[in-house]
Amino acid sequence: MMYDYLIVGAGFFGSIFAYEAHKRGKKVLVIDKRDHIAGNMYTENIDGINVHKYGAHIFHTSNKVVWEYLNQFTEFNQYINSPVANYKGEIYNLPFNMNTFNKLWGVVTPSEAKAKIEEQRKEHYKENPKNLEEQAINLVGIDVYEKLIKGYTEKQWGKRATELPSFIIRRLPVRFTYDNNYFNDRYQGIPIGGYTKIFEKLLDGIEVKLKTNYFDNRSYFDGIANKVLYTGPIDEFYNFEFGILEYRSLDFETQTLEIDNYQGNAVVNYTEREVLYTRIIEHKHFEFLDTKKTVITKEYPATWTPGKEPYYPVNDERNNQVANQYLEKAKSETKYLFGGRLAEYKYYDMHAVVASALSMVKRELKDE
Ligand code: FAD
Ligand code: UDP
Repeated sequence: MMYDYLIVGAGFFGSIFAYEAHKRGKKVLVIDKRDHIAGNMYTENIDGINVHKYGAHIFHTSNKVVWEYLNQFTEFNQYINSPVANYKGEIYNLPFNMNTFNKLWGVVTPSEAKAKIEEQRKEHYKENPKNLEEQAINLVGIDVYEKLIKGYTEKQWGKRATELPSFIIRRLPVRFTYDNNYFNDRYQGIPIGGYTKIFEKLLDGIEVKLKTNYFDNRSYFDGIANKVLYTGPIDEFYNFEFGILEYRSLDFETQTLEIDNYQGNAVVNYTEREVLYTRIIEHKHFEFLDTKKTVITKEYPATWTPGKEPYYPVNDERNNQVANQYLEKAKSETKYLFGGRLAEYKYYDMHAVVASALSMVKRELKDE
């Protein structure tokens, strides 16, 4: 065997595992079908601005081990995500907090806001919310739901909010303070110099082959390594034998503009259904840059079809049930290891993928 591990995918899962295996003297080959490392975290420097090529990536975690682990490879800046929502030209703060409620209803104190939501809940409250719509109305009332959630959610997922699992909306905090921080986590920031640099350090000294798809020569790749760590879509690995899993895709439209400031914030969400994109990212604001030009990206949700990038797993009941069949089968493998957003079919943020990779390192690469 030429390698101890073949690693399919140079995102966080694959690159962290590769780094840790290499550090322990294992022979490692990393392949990725894209023409760059760093998976969805890839940033490219355009006119001095680190552009997030696969949509805004804001690192946040409450896990000190994960935070300290990544701080070996980068320093993070002080960026705190505070997106604003644009609904038909009206601007609201996110996540849902006293600033949002004040703009919507003119309420000033937390008890006034709670009373307003309570009044709306009385009419629409559902005992055991079964879907995203019921969950959202229970949490914030009908006004917030209709202006800030329904349109955004339905275009993002290409489904009705009544067909979507409720956990998706519970990703967002609801606060009765004037705090626009999108996350509750203790640690947050953007890597200084961009994400790609982290991956250059993780993969330093490791053989990496880009533009190389595992499925183009599966038997060859299986034959050159004792073990294979696969971080791509789990259904594709098993040739779709239990059915095709559903993903949501995106199209990104990036433009350089000859002005210094386009929208005054890194992230602006467009929450009405009629605007086809969900958000516009203005990358320089992630890094507090003072440059003459600016780069913006519009994110258009798109139907996933084979061949398109599978960005989001759609963790509803049907898909989870199919995914569980794959994941059960995966457990019995001895040659193959699986991890990451696509191989575990979980709507994981970066910190969760880092934690998951570190626990695989512990299990698989036991230190003598
Ligand atoms: P990936 O980064 O997807 O890496 C998998 C790699 O495997 C890819 O490079 C792919 O090309 C490669 N691959 C797949 N199949 C094959 C094959 N057959 N052969 C060779 N290579 C293959 N998380 C946050 O914490 N904060 C955020 O703000 C945030 N924003 C996001 C915004 C968007 C638009 C998206 C889509 C995700 C966001 N995430 C965010 C989530 C984050 O992107 C994931 O947690 C992270 O990418 C998971 O890392 P991974 O290694 O599992 O997968
Ligand atoms: N969401 C919404 N309005 C917004 C922002 C988010 O309704 O302005 C909902 C939407 O359903 C989305 C979910 O909250 O899919 C999670 O949002 P998050 O920002 O975490 O999405 P991601 O960054 O993962 O795309």
